[in-house]
Amino acid sequence: MGNRAEELLERIAVGIEKLGDEPEFEIPTAPPVCPHCGKLNPTIKTDDSAGTGPMGDIFMEVTCMNCSHSWFAVPQGWVNFTNEPDLREFFERAENGNSREDH
Ligand SMILES: [Zn+2]
Repeated sequence: MGNRAEELLERIAVGIEKLGDEPEFEIPTAPPVCPHCGKLNPTIKTDDSAGTGPMGDIFMEVTCMNCSHSWFAVPQGWVNFTNEPDLREFFERAENGNSREDH
């Protein structure tokens, strides 16, 4: 590993440690919008093959099918389902605005 790469890794490590010391640090979450073309809820693809690692450290490299640009996406929080029917119901309710009871 070259000196520049080592230096960069050290700076990243220091930055991460500083984030841990900064309780005010807020991670902005956003709706599903492509950061390149701005399309709301674009169709995306991921080429990531199955990997292994801590659940809290997961990220995905995704490609927008609208503009063909790629970026890294980090899930912030989880909604977990232990069976597929519950998963389907979740997305159906999300598509319906999750507001059936409000009408
Ligand atoms: Zn896009």
